[in-house]
Formats: sequence, C-alpha cells, structure tokens
Amino acid sequence: MAEDKQWTVNDEAEQMVNDLVRQYHRHLDRAHIACLTKPKASVKHGKTVWATLQKTTPLMRALDIEADYVIVIGGPVWERLNTKERRALIDHELMHAAGYDDEAEAWTVAGHDIEEFSAIIQRHGAWRSDVERFLEVAQAVKLNQMTIDEAVKAHVDTMKGIGVTVEVGKAT
Ligand SMILES: [Zn+2]
Repeated sequence: MAEDKQWTVNDEAEQMVNDLVRQYHRHLDRAHIACLTKPKASVKHGKTVWATLQKTTPLMRALDIEADYVIVIGGPVWERLNTKERRALIDHELMHAAGYDDEAEAWTVAGHDIEEFSAIIQRHGAWRSDVERFLEVAQAVKLNQMTIDEAVKAHVDTMKGIGVTVEVGKAT
C-alpha cells in the first residue's frame, strides 16, 4: 500500500488521551482508546470532519483489536492545528465516549450538548434549555477570557453609557 494511503497510530493524540482521561474523564480509566490518523479527512454534509470517536464493533474485536474506542483523526486537519487545538479536539472526542454501561455490558457513546445553527440563535435566541445552558457557559468563558485591558475598557464604556466619565491610567 502506498505510504500516503496508510492509516497510522497517532502517538501524540494517545498521549493526550491519557492526560485528558486523568484530568476530566475518569469514567474512562479502564477504557482502551486508540488514536489513528487517516491520510484524508472525511466530508459530511459538506463539512470537513476533523475527527470521530467510535466504539469498537464486534467485527473489529473479532480481528483482535484491543481497543474499546477508536478516535480517527483527519491527517490534514491534525497537521494544521497547534498543540492547544489538538488537545481541545481530543478532549471533544473523549466527550463522545460515555463510558461503560454495566447493564448493557457495553461501552457507550454520547452526542453533542446542542445541535444548532448560529442563524437560529441569532433569530430566536436561547429558545431551548440546552441552547440556553450553552450560551450561559459561552458567556461565562468569554468574560473569563477578557484581558484586564478589555475589562477596564468595558467598564469605562459602561460608565460612559450612564453618563460617568472614568479616567484610566493616570498616576496621581
Ligand atoms: Zn463531536
């Protein structure tokens, strides 16, 4: 098989899986999670699929694949992400791994918190509780990420809005 058609084990991603499971996904402590890179990213509904997580199928297990879950990453996508983005992507995929269901005796997968179009949020706002929750978190993260300068500017703007002029940065 030509080199550029081969799927390869992604060691960096597997290392990230180990770290992230320890940090955020303790219910996956016992899970074996393999990370593979494929040479071309898939396209679904006209969008590039960055990565997917699937649980191993009986077919895969019959072929002696040891993993409980497999994360498949689009090679070209992985190449253009920086380390922080790669980590976020792997953390995202791990969210799809819902853990072991003792009753069903099977590893399970989970869907996204919300499936929504930004245009719908623009037109209808937080029209469902899951969207509302998502927006609350997004808002909190945004406030959190504001730099001091932005926070000061926001404060000055707010005060200006109510007719108070605040002078910033003047030593007295
Ligand atoms: Zn996803």
